[in-house]
Amino acid sequence: MFINPFFYTSYNGDQMKTKSIWETTISLPEEKKELPQTKTDILIIGSGIAGISTAFHLKDCKKKIMVIDKGRIAMGVTSKTTGKLTYLQGTCYQKIKTMYDLDTSYLYLNSQKESIQIVKDTISKYNIACDLEKVDSYIFANQQNEIKKIKKEEEILKKMNISYQKCTTLPNQYPCKYGIYVSDTYVFHPLKYLLSLMDICKKKGITFYENVCATNIRKKKNLYMVETSQGTIEANTVVICTHYPFFIKPCFIPFKTHIERSYVVASQIIKPKSFSAILPKNPSYSMRYYQNYFIYGGESHDMSHQIDYQKNYEKLQQQYKKYFTSNIDYMWCTHDILTEDHIPYIGRASKQEKNLFIATGFNKWGMTNGTLAGKVLSDLILKEKNEYTQLLAPYRSYTVQRILVLFKNATNTGKIFMRTKLDRNPSFYTENISVFKKDGIYYGKYIDKNGKSHIVYNKCPHMGCSLIFNKKDITWDCPCHGSRFDIDGDIIEGPSTYSIKIKK
Ligand SMILES: Cc1cc2nc3c(=O)[nH]c(=O)nc-3n(C[C@H](O)[C@H](O)[C@H](O)COP(=O)(O)OP(=O)(O)OC[C@H]3O[C@@H](n4cnc5c(N)ncnc54)[C@H](O)[C@@H]3O)c2cc1C
Repeated sequence: MFINPFFYTSYNGDQMKTKSIWETTISLPEEKKELPQTKTDILIIGSGIAGISTAFHLKDCKKKIMVIDKGRIAMGVTSKTTGKLTYLQGTCYQKIKTMYDLDTSYLYLNSQKESIQIVKDTISKYNIACDLEKVDSYIFANQQNEIKKIKKEEEILKKMNISYQKCTTLPNQYPCKYGIYVSDTYVFHPLKYLLSLMDICKKKGITFYENVCATNIRKKKNLYMVETSQGTIEANTVVICTHYPFFIKPCFIPFKTHIERSYVVASQIIKPKSFSAILPKNPSYSMRYYQNYFIYGGESHDMSHQIDYQKNYEKLQQQYKKYFTSNIDYMWCTHDILTEDHIPYIGRASKQEKNLFIATGFNKWGMTNGTLAGKVLSDLILKEKNEYTQLLAPYRSYTVQRILVLFKNATNTGKIFMRTKLDRNPSFYTENISVFKKDGIYYGKYIDKNGKSHIVYNKCPHMGCSLIFNKKDITWDCPCHGSRFDIDGDIIEGPSTYSIKIKK
């Protein structure tokens, strides 16, 4: 079945698809929707790169494994990524060194290189056609303070024995005063890769279920009872790869992370180049090519800093039009979870929960970190040694720097929580969008172009934040933790596991 994209007309008249280039270039198989099994050895919740990679690494362990997803398989954030496989991740090594030390930066670097190797080896062993291409990967800058940061990153790369080249231009002539690049990095089609891994898993007896939403986890003796939209599943081991966990305890992820939303455009071009690049400033910009398409991302922002997303779509289009002439064919947005120390949370959810695992906080580097999650989690489950378990442990110890960033994140979330309560009808709402109060409860109302009213609860079921209407995507979005709902209240993205439909 080919996905049927719908179109969006930009402010300057370009007609563009609002799905990602990956979603529209694959044929997505239908998976099982009814849940006959209620018992399993290992239950993996979430079928993005983290969930499917975990299933893949466990496929030979002779245990009964189920993967469930609340939506279609692989259609979460992984379907909207830009698909770069690189260890040159902005200026992350100086961030990690500041939080910890050079050894920790070095360990993280090795984890990323190893993940790239895992993807390469898997593709070659199973002959996976996912358009893997070796490309140079750049970080670059135009302003003095940004150049200084790149030079600082160079110092750390040198100490870690990474060879790199310097440059003052990019292969596509995008403005660049100074940059560096490495050559042993890649780009690929993330969904072609993931769906092939799923096929391999299925041949080994792993079952995949769509439209099964996990809502709660209870403990019964040594077993986990996972409540879902289709009944309870009993499992010895549970792996949560839902991008953002749907529970607060035991990991307290909402207090240890923040969420950034990013925007991406893709346009057909005549002379594609062979490189990927990041301008690591705030907001950052990213570039890569896929066949005869150029993919350009940017205008990221902390979700809690901004509530009118339309502006960012327009800013990205304007930024694109400054440097490129071809029409925009695709435009999409998505968000990722950022940790305060640039190291993801992968491992046991807490020291006490021996068989409950989690993978989140990929810092916009989920192609490598989701792959890493698959390897680390499977090693933990199979009681194999893995040198990265301490580095990634979700309950790792705090340094003063980490506590300061956690405090800043919590303050920002608190501020946006209050802002949405105090100003329920922001100025960018038009006459067809409103929030109103009836019998002490707040409702959101959207009147569509046929004059039909769509009324939903205005409170996010996750942690109670008031929802903001996203005029571009026609959705109700939570600015605190990223849950999204359609105009009739159905969940599009978690962490919320409950809809905002009005109870009849
Ligand atoms: C604009 C952008 C560009 C990016 N580009 C890159 C890049 O070039 N390179 C790179 O390495 N990384 C990149 N990333 C990061 C990367 O895309 C993500 O980190 C990664 O895709 C996240 O994978 P995941 O498996 O954790 O989540 P997902 O792919 O979102 O998978 C989670 C799955 O869990 C399901 N789920 C959620 N809740 C439940 C529930 N309660 N019950 C059942 N199922 C549930 C969802 O439906 C979903 O299918 C980018 C991120 C952004 C925002």
